[in-house]
Amino acid sequence: ANDRIFNFAAGPATLPESVILKAQGELYNYRGSGMSIMEMSHRGKEFDAVIKKAESDLRRLLAIPDDDYAVLFLQGGATTQFAAVPLNLCAPGDAVDYVVTGSWGDKAFKEAQKFCKANLSWSGKSDKYTKIPSFEGLEQNPNAKYLHICANETIHGVEFKNYPTPSNKDAVLVADMSSNFCSKPVDVSKFGVIYAGAQKNVGPSGVTIAIVRKDLIGNAQPITPVMLDYKIHADSASLYNTPPCFAIYICGLVFEDLLEQGGLLEVEKNNTKKAGILYDAIDGSGGFYVCPVEKSVRSLMNVPFTLQKSDLEKKFIEEAAKEGMVQLKGHRSVGGVRASIYNAMPLAGVEKLVAFMKDFQARHP
Ligand code: PMP
Repeated sequence: ANDRIFNFAAGPATLPESVILKAQGELYNYRGSGMSIMEMSHRGKEFDAVIKKAESDLRRLLAIPDDDYAVLFLQGGATTQFAAVPLNLCAPGDAVDYVVTGSWGDKAFKEAQKFCKANLSWSGKSDKYTKIPSFEGLEQNPNAKYLHICANETIHGVEFKNYPTPSNKDAVLVADMSSNFCSKPVDVSKFGVIYAGAQKNVGPSGVTIAIVRKDLIGNAQPITPVMLDYKIHADSASLYNTPPCFAIYICGLVFEDLLEQGGLLEVEKNNTKKAGILYDAIDGSGGFYVCPVEKSVRSLMNVPFTLQKSDLEKKFIEEAAKEGMVQLKGHRSVGGVRASIYNAMPLAGVEKLVAFMKDFQARHP
């Protein structure tokens, strides 16, 4: 009997059933060690193998060049990276550029202002964060050290489908990929830094992954706390202090699972199919359901929509929950409905949601 339900939460989010079951099987006595992974030394041979394999599998998945990029397993969530990025990449007087396409990009921008001269290159606020700008129109500072984007805005459901190039050739592109990490192939060589909290696509909360171009490491501002200094973590292979061992272990299981599925091109195909079914249902509802996001930049991961009869939204969310589809409420800052359909959301979950949407509409003419 399958008693798991379809969890459309934005994060922490649904994980592959096979990963949960494998972790359950290994929980009590990890591979004959006589203890669980949570109880063992982060410097012992078992965990050493876990973190090394997680890193090498992630490198395979994203084709991360070994010589040029460090992969770091960090703590403090993506929110901590909002500060770590400017602290590591620029001096207090340096200019940096932010493209703000939603609430998360805005938080990153505001945090950066504490540590350097952060400019707003573009903001989608006046369009209620439903767009991605054309890259020609971006106001970039000629001396900027980096250009920061949020690759997928979790709350507003807008996703970059390709990436801008910093106009200053010495600047690098930095991306918060928290909510679309490992959802599709990415050309890592286009980026100086990619960071992502794990708790949407690749694991539980507690670990944040940063992929950092090695030549950018080692220039942190003197006030940078050790826990935010990329060099400290790169030099100690993410074992400067006690890492979030269990979270890293689960990420490793997820990476294995994604490789078994055939890698990120296959994963992207599935995600495109799932998102297509859901957006088609919204657009084909004759206005009963409305997605405000410009079509070409709609997220494959987070699908926000409203009901034209907004007084029915509460009922929609409650009835869906009764049918085993939970966490469909939009973020408290925007309301409405949001279906997060990360890698691990099965096609069956999306099909069930779409069938429910049609039925709900038929019952509320
Ligand atoms: N960036 C994005 C795109 C997010 O979706 C989130 C979390 N929802 C964050 C940053 C903040 O992540 P954390 O809670 O791990 O600090």
